[in-house]
Amino acid sequence: MGQNSKIASESSYMGKHWTEKSLSKMTERDWRILKEDFAIVTKGGAVENPMRNWEDRNIIPEDLLRIVTQKLQFHSPTPIQRITIPNVCNTKKYRDFLGVASTGSGKTLAFIIPILIRLSRSPPRPPSLKIMDGPKALILAPTRELVQQIHAESEKVTKIWSRENDYDCRVVSIVGGHSLEEISFSLSEGCDILVATPGRLIDSLENHLLVMKQVETLVLDEADKMIDLGFEDQVTNILTKVDINADSAIHRQTMMFTATMTAVIEKIAAGYMKKPVYATIGLDTGSEPLIQQIVEYADSDEDKFRKLKSIVTKYEPPIIIFINYKQTADWLAETFQKETNMKVTILHGSKSQEQREHSLQLFRRGEAQIMVATNVAARGLDIPNVSLVVNFQIPKKIDDYVHRIGRTGRAAKEGTAISFVSSTEDETLVRELQKYVKKHDPLNNNIFSDGVKTKYNIGKEQKDEIIY
Ligand code: ADP
Ligand code: MG
Repeated sequence: MGQNSKIASESSYMGKHWTEKSLSKMTERDWRILKEDFAIVTKGGAVENPMRNWEDRNIIPEDLLRIVTQKLQFHSPTPIQRITIPNVCNTKKYRDFLGVASTGSGKTLAFIIPILIRLSRSPPRPPSLKIMDGPKALILAPTRELVQQIHAESEKVTKIWSRENDYDCRVVSIVGGHSLEEISFSLSEGCDILVATPGRLIDSLENHLLVMKQVETLVLDEADKMIDLGFEDQVTNILTKVDINADSAIHRQTMMFTATMTAVIEKIAAGYMKKPVYATIGLDTGSEPLIQQIVEYADSDEDKFRKLKSIVTKYEPPIIIFINYKQTADWLAETFQKETNMKVTILHGSKSQEQREHSLQLFRRGEAQIMVATNVAARGLDIPNVSLVVNFQIPKKIDDYVHRIGRTGRAAKEGTAISFVSSTEDETLVRELQKYVKKHDPLNNNIFSDGVKTKYNIGKEQKDEIIY
């Protein structure tokens, strides 16, 4: 496979049926090939076909199109965008939608574009009616960092869009760590799109800071993570509230996005969504991140640190180092700053909201080259151009490994993930890790070091598999 298979595969689509046909000439088979090309699998009945390009079927109005292609410079939609947008923008149905796609697949824009299209179809919020009617779109996400990221990503589009449309489209976010006064203040200017963590939204509703009478679009982003973090009750509570309070004239639409499909997600979909379109984006085409995965043996933290010190010099910052315990974070950051001239910032759950935001900012701006983080930072955070992810300690679950390494290799760029395995790891986990690394290897150059293989008897098992 080529060194940049995402981009290579993009151009190899040229010459296939669907790229060269006018809409009226597209056959059922062409649409099927298109779906196969982007590993899009759908169910749910009466599913709209994916978009072949941003302009396809004039689903996206001119003004938004210009922002996406010229301002953001996104030349073609990602698979999840191709399938989500036509399905949720169908005016006749406003279908509910459940999308399963890995992180870094472009989900934010997949729901922001439809939200703006729907906003533009209804009359603008009168300046006199401020918070009383509440937001038209509500986006729930599991962590403060994700909420802030969605807020920022949305504003990249809404700011330009508002200017061009003479429509003051306001995005507001509500997260823990912001006081009720601050929240009330930011809502007082009006709010069209609200992005929130479930807990803080409930606080705000209970304190009558806002109502949710006219939510047209409800998005549950990273639904599996919200469940993992124990927010199931809060999420269903909000879903129920939005339903009960809704102005009956509004046809509310719910979109749910998740990286993995679980029983709880199915249950929420069955209980709170109306005949949704299900779309899964396969892992083996297009959306597979380009990550070289290396697993190294190291016996102690000191040994790991020695290796790490020489490894980091070979990569361009930003670099993320994951650890399991916050004590390790402090030690590691300190030792690094002492022994190298790199600036290290720390992100973990017991830092205050302000410290976390500050850490992220330093890292995003390139003022810190290395970020040491716990799993809190592993999900969904989009920090561009991370070249290297190090698992100083391997996580306890393979899922977390996947999310951690997914911080690199984003948006068709290559990345490397190096994980240290010591002599005390859980054997089953090491085996799972080996299986994963071997299977998800788009660059075909993973390295599972001999030290790890010897320690965990991995080579032997492979031989046995071949013999029998
Ligand atoms: P997800 O929510 O699926 O993890 P994001 O929405 O955070 O993914 O997008 C990941 C990155 O890809 C972001 O930096 C975003 O700006 C970029 N991106 C989104 N859509 C496109 C596109 N169509 N082409 C290129 N890059 C894109
Ligand atoms: Mg996301």
